[in-house]
Amino acid sequence: MQKRIPIGKPVMDINLPISGLNIRPGKVLCIGRNYAAHAAEMQSDIPEAPVLFLKPPTALIGDGREVLLPPASQEVHHEVELVVLIGKKGKNILVSDALKHVEGYALGIDMTARDLQAEAKRCGLPWSVAKGFDTFAPLGAFTPARDIADPRRLSISLHVNGTLRQQGSVSRMLFGVDELIAYASSVFTLMPGDLMYTGTPEGVAAVEDGDRLVAKGTGLQDLTVDVRRL
Ligand code: MN
Repeated sequence: MQKRIPIGKPVMDINLPISGLNIRPGKVLCIGRNYAAHAAEMQSDIPEAPVLFLKPPTALIGDGREVLLPPASQEVHHEVELVVLIGKKGKNILVSDALKHVEGYALGIDMTARDLQAEAKRCGLPWSVAKGFDTFAPLGAFTPARDIADPRRLSISLHVNGTLRQQGSVSRMLFGVDELIAYASSVFTLMPGDLMYTGTPEGVAAVEDGDRLVAKGTGLQDLTVDVRRL
């Protein structure tokens, strides 16, 4: 019997105030190009398999915190995403079993230094720097998976200073949550506390010092962060 992760308890023992989690976060898996319209706006091809990358857990911040824009980038974009919390260890998980490994769902924002990412793409280099700065992974509180019968029915949106910038239905993902978990678990053993940012719909754009980002989703808890330039 796997140990269940309590939902709705305060924080863990490191300085990452994620409400709803009281364990250390594990791997922060992220999926690129998982909505066709976003792939198009990035002038990228639609992938044949999920595009998988990682952020360090030190990038995580909770609701109400600040995204800090680093001097190294002049163009940091918001990417609102559905985030999955893994609650059960698994390797080579079947698509048909995958949702049993989900403990909760939350909103997240995959902050991306687009200028650094573009340079990395040009040079064939990894995205770790473009995606991995401290505070580049805002994460909201989790809704227990048992309260969400079908993640495909969720929709997510992002408002910047009160203006709607991104909106998408999870049903439009190229690879569903179940397929993403199955794929990721073919590479990594998934562990309780692992997180997966599942990709962003179209509408990504640069943020500025002083912006307020509010992510919303059906059945999910709002996530609000403010942007500050270092
Ligand atoms: Mn993303």
